[in-house]
Amino acid sequence: MAKKTKRIDTHAHLGECCVFGLLSTEEDMLRRMEECGVDATIVQPYPGATTASKTHDRIADLCARHPGRFFGIASVTPHGDRDVYEREVERCIKELKFVGIKLHTIGHGVNPLSEDGDRVFATAHALGVPAMVHTGPGVPFALPALCIPAARKYPDLKIILAHAGFAVFTAEAQVAASVCGNLYLETSWCIGEDIRWMIDTIGADRVMLGADLPSNVPVEFAKYKALELKPDVYDKVLGGTAIDVFKLSW
Ligand SMILES: [Zn+2]
Repeated sequence: MAKKTKRIDTHAHLGECCVFGLLSTEEDMLRRMEECGVDATIVQPYPGATTASKTHDRIADLCARHPGRFFGIASVTPHGDRDVYEREVERCIKELKFVGIKLHTIGHGVNPLSEDGDRVFATAHALGVPAMVHTGPGVPFALPALCIPAARKYPDLKIILAHAGFAVFTAEAQVAASVCGNLYLETSWCIGEDIRWMIDTIGADRVMLGADLPSNVPVEFAKYKALELKPDVYDKVLGGTAIDVFKLSW
């Protein structure tokens, strides 16, 4: 299969979540990937994981058992001891070869404009990986526009707005991306026609599919299929963009 035609889910969680009351297993993920023809999934712990580092190890194990089918994203609360945060994130990127860092505005209670919010952006910038930020439910911290100052402070850092505003704040996510070329849109839970609008106005090279939950994988793929996009655009938003942004290689 040519590199750019891979189908990638850029947003998935493994393990349990005491914040949202959710659970996703390796089997759930593999079954949905098989069902929907997903080549690779980018996996992170839930914000309510009992111990983030244990879930990071579990993700690394999943990546090792299924080479090229999974990539990891580190997700740790930036509150508390700075060294503890930086050590765990650095371990994920350098030792476990994860491809990004998550800032969870609602799950970890982090304002992107705060000092602890900046810690996430600064760490991602220093380690040379993209930062993914939860947007949508969880206002005011989850408002997409709150990522604009970080995008301007770190112009060569790629920041992915997870859920692209989650339908209700999608217009704001589009505006944020329109004024900052280093903001990217991951579209889980968005309205189909809004996804088309984001692709048409921001460009396919800054829009990517994500599913968030295993049961939502078939839904998100069906949504994109129903848009009847041009083949080159479809290939980008379903995989090519993620390959470039996360520097994925096989
Ligand atoms: Zn999520």
